[in-house]
Amino acid sequence: MTKPWSATNFARQVIDYYHAFGRKHLPWQNTQDPYRIWLSEIMLQQTQVTTVIPYFERFVESFPTVLDLAHATDDQVMQHWSGLGYYSRARNLHKAAKIIETEFGGDFPQDPEVIETLPGIGRSTAGAIASFAFDQPTAILDGNVKRVLARCYAIEGWPGNGKVLKALWERAEANTPTQETAAYNQAMMDLGAVVCTRTKPNCPDCPLSKHCLAYHNNSIEQYPGKKPKKARPSKAVYWLISINETSDQTQVLLHKRPPSGIWGGLWALPEVEQQDISPDKISQLDPFVHKFSHYDLQVQPLLLSSKADKALVEKKSHPSIMEPAQADWFSQNQLSEIGLPTPVSKLLSKLLGDS
Ligand code: SF4
Repeated sequence: MTKPWSATNFARQVIDYYHAFGRKHLPWQNTQDPYRIWLSEIMLQQTQVTTVIPYFERFVESFPTVLDLAHATDDQVMQHWSGLGYYSRARNLHKAAKIIETEFGGDFPQDPEVIETLPGIGRSTAGAIASFAFDQPTAILDGNVKRVLARCYAIEGWPGNGKVLKALWERAEANTPTQETAAYNQAMMDLGAVVCTRTKPNCPDCPLSKHCLAYHNNSIEQYPGKKPKKARPSKAVYWLISINETSDQTQVLLHKRPPSGIWGGLWALPEVEQQDISPDKISQLDPFVHKFSHYDLQVQPLLLSSKADKALVEKKSHPSIMEPAQADWFSQNQLSEIGLPTPVSKLLSKLLGDS
């Protein structure tokens, strides 16, 4: 059976990989300027290297030092970030630059625990800055490193779970060497980005394959564990459809939704949460589910046949009618002139034909 690496051997293999194959010529490498290292780490958090390079170059040309960034206006900073996305990253950079000026006299702090107190900097980014800029033996655990460690050591569970994260940090700390930490950290990032990719990792070329548990157990896809899916909440409602046929037109009764809440201000079918109309006075149409971002609305449309029930619904005096609302009858032609929620519009088109 395959044994996991000892921490020392693991680090040795990773550092050897760095010397042979690691990326060494990116614009934020070959420097120990904490400002540039910090900026690159933040830009790379959600964005690919090739996208980051021109943004990084333009940013440091306009703001070559942390003090230049601290003195820039919000608009200047945001304009340089425009297109990179996740704009809170830029706002936090700017805030942190001002803090570095006012609280640290313009010098980037060196202690990883202090670095971590700056806006937008988490434990892993603080570890990267401390190791790259200040040669400190600090561990990192970004998304790429989590994946490599979870696979190599078959660490089960979703890394967003506190216990799993703790286990990954323990492993990251145990494996991080006290010498050549920067080379090791850079190589771990490179391995995750280039070799141990999320899909189709290149195990035959991986320096860790000899003892990687997931590789040998043929269970790579299990690591890192996926975020557990929560059951989506759902709400069941009945939509009451009153149709009024006259000699020259067909009308449908709609209620205007109150201004706040789902479909605020739109005209929708009267809605009840409980069905208490006698079954012989209704026809059940095909139920369907409408998906909102956070829940499913399960809709049972009911076609009312009794005049008395239609009148109750029109007056909003049906016993379980929801939310008092304006009520009105609309002809097919008028339906295209008022605001209708999509599922109401679809249902009515199916029922009445397109207007
Ligand atoms: S052997 Fe494969 S799964 Fe294991 S660390 Fe290397 S690339 Fe990732």
